[in-house]
This record gives sequence, C-alpha cells and structure tokens, in this order.
Amino acid sequence: MQMASYWRTTQQRLGMVGEVCPHCGTKLFPPRDVCPECSGPAKTPFQFTGRGEVYSFSTVYSGPEGFETYAPYVVALVKLVEGPLVTAQLTDVDSQDLYIGMPVEMVTRKMREMGNDGLVLYNYKFRPSLQPVLG
Ligand SMILES: [Zn+2]
Repeated sequence: MQMASYWRTTQQRLGMVGEVCPHCGTKLFPPRDVCPECSGPAKTPFQFTGRGEVYSFSTVYSGPEGFETYAPYVVALVKLVEGPLVTAQLTDVDSQDLYIGMPVEMVTRKMREMGNDGLVLYNYKFRPSLQPVLG
C-alpha cells in the first residue's frame, strides 16, 4: 500500500496530474477527490499543462528546517490556465523581475537529497514561460 501511494504521489508531482469533476467540469489540483464547487466526488484523473501566471508572490528569507540553504527563495501563488491556484516555489527568476500576471510554466526540480539511502525527493516549481499564456 505504501509503495502504491508513493508512486501515485510521484506521478502527481512529476506529471502534474490532478482531477476533473465529472459533474460540473471544475479542475482540481492537487487532487482531493471531492469537488470544491459542487461537493460531488471527483476522481477522474486530469493532466494539467503546468502553465499559468503569477497571481501573487512573496520572498522567503529563512527557509524551514532542511531548506535553509535554499533561502532566500520566492514562493508564488500561480493561477493555472485550467483555473486552480497552486502554491509553488519559483525558479530561474530574480525577484525584482517578477510581476503579477507573469506567464510561468511548471518544471520538475530536485528538492532535497537524502542521506546514504540515495532517496531523492522531487517537487514541482515554476519558471518564467517563454511563450505567452494562451486563452
Ligand atoms: Zn463539481
């Protein structure tokens, strides 16, 4: 069971798979199996494009334990083109170049390397998109 759950989480993070509500069409990310709009069950997988725009952002100057070496870093609320808002770290951008509405795209980055067991954790981040956000 633990392995299955691990792989589900990994796929979700690497491929940005969320869910879509079969009743009203609302897109969910991260997946939560219940539609926030109509409270119906929403377990249909949905592949997000990983594209969106900066909705708001702030700079973190002291990271949580284990992430100190990454500070300062920028955390943004990104509005995906499919609708949901996700919180994620921004990468490949100077904070002074950031603006609300900046087009961004998801990238998968190595977040943290563990010890001798070689376990590496990945998570998604967003970087400035070279193409304008469509529609
Ligand atoms: Zn719904």
